[in-house]
Amino acid sequence: MSALRTIEELGDVRGKRVLVRSDLNVPMEDGVITDDGRIRASVPTIKDLAGRGARVIVCAHLGRPKGTPEAKYSLKPAAERLGELLGHEVRFATDTVGDSAKATVEALADGEVALLENLRFNAGETSKDDAERSAFADALAGLADLYVGDGFGAVHRKHASVYDVPQRLPHAAGGLVAAEVEVLKQLTEDPARPYAVVLGGAKVSDKLGVIANLLAKVDRLLIGGGMAYTFLKAQGHEVGNSLLQEDQLDKVRGFLKEAEERGVELVLPVDVLAATEFAKDAEHEAVDATAIPADREGLDIGPRTRELFASRLADARTVFWNGPMGVFEFDAFSGGTRAVAEALIASDAFTVVGGGDSAAAVRKLGLPEDGFSHISTGGGASLEYLEGKTLPGLAALED
Ligand code: ADP
Ligand code: MG
Repeated sequence: MSALRTIEELGDVRGKRVLVRSDLNVPMEDGVITDDGRIRASVPTIKDLAGRGARVIVCAHLGRPKGTPEAKYSLKPAAERLGELLGHEVRFATDTVGDSAKATVEALADGEVALLENLRFNAGETSKDDAERSAFADALAGLADLYVGDGFGAVHRKHASVYDVPQRLPHAAGGLVAAEVEVLKQLTEDPARPYAVVLGGAKVSDKLGVIANLLAKVDRLLIGGGMAYTFLKAQGHEVGNSLLQEDQLDKVRGFLKEAEERGVELVLPVDVLAATEFAKDAEHEAVDATAIPADREGLDIGPRTRELFASRLADARTVFWNGPMGVFEFDAFSGGTRAVAEALIASDAFTVVGGGDSAAAVRKLGLPEDGFSHISTGGGASLEYLEGKTLPGLAALED
């Protein structure tokens, strides 16, 4: 991969309109931001450009609206939080490329910052149809003189604001993207061994895809969280009402076989917390992973698994962790995630946490962020990079 141009290399940006694609995709409950990590991570690049006199136009997405405005996915709360963190007001456009966006950009003075409404309120942002995406990209590019790609969590998406706009404007990689890529290089170019990857979370089919590639690169693969049950089932165990991807069972059987052939140590849960329902106060008990009752669902890894995982991480020299080990949002089922986080904190290895929810879990559990070598803002993006895939949003920034 050729080098990414830095924002310093954009030269004099005073008076220039700079479109910054940030990742402000933060978890929200009833319009309240529950973890502002990604907004905080976006601040340095925006601050740098504004400090240099640029007219900064930030754009981002939130959640998965279907191409039309939906109040619950508005970025308005993010604009307010961003303003607090920057220490001055962020003007908010109530559309993406319409009258409000144009007027908001027009009104920007040197050194001021605006945020456009959720890009995914426009179907062109994520469209698979090149012409539809291009039309939206043209409109976005028309708002600015320069483009900065800083939304690391979205660089694996071939979306208008990520992939098409940088082809239309002089561009650079923001500080966050540059820093994330630096860490991922360390993980891919000759990582210190043993190299362990811990996978969990709920985006099972997304993440199963990465395993095929990771098996060729890692020494140990620890599987917890919602995806573990598809593995247990593939081994012939009943998983009750646990999260299960029935249609992926053959694929997973293939992984089990391949891991064995390659000598990759695949570590699965030996016990789980089996709950009567998906609820924070659900009745639950630790059961063997091979004996989950039919009317229960596994919501966390059990105590013996926590010990097992910690022991398989203790002597690793490189660890990448993506995806919570259980439903950490419920206190009763956060222990497995805490145990893995603590194992990483205790380790001297190069430790990287990736994934929006994984990073949020670290903070929610009150664990020290500096206990890890790096906490990435991108889950899918990190995983795809580790797989050796070309990420559209990085490729577009290269030339
Ligand atoms: P990340 O954002 O870190 O990549 P994901 O988005 O894949 O992680 O998954 C995070 C979600 O996975 C959390 O909301 C968590 O509650 C859920 N989860 C973890 N374990 C389980 C489980 N056993 N059953 C259901 N959901 C789970
Ligand atoms: Mg997530």
